[in-house]
Amino acid sequence: VAGGVKAQMVPCMVCGERADRIAEGIEDDIYQCEQGHKFGLDWGRGPPGKPLWPLSPDERKRMDLILQRRNEPKKR
Ligand SMILES: [Zn+2]
Repeated sequence: VAGGVKAQMVPCMVCGERADRIAEGIEDDIYQCEQGHKFGLDWGRGPPGKPLWPLSPDERKRMDLILQRRNEPKKR
């Protein structure tokens, strides 16, 4: 168990929607969102202290900013 029960669902690192854990490793878990984005999260420093989904309004805002910045066409 890497991330534990509180890491069962996380925001997708690509689109920000909900992603479900599809595989558990010793230190990292693999997630996939409804849009098919697949990514791994490293829990080597320990599982999260609170559930990562749903996002609070503040977290949602921060997530949107991160995604927006990442998707800016100039940086590609
Ligand atoms: Zn996604």
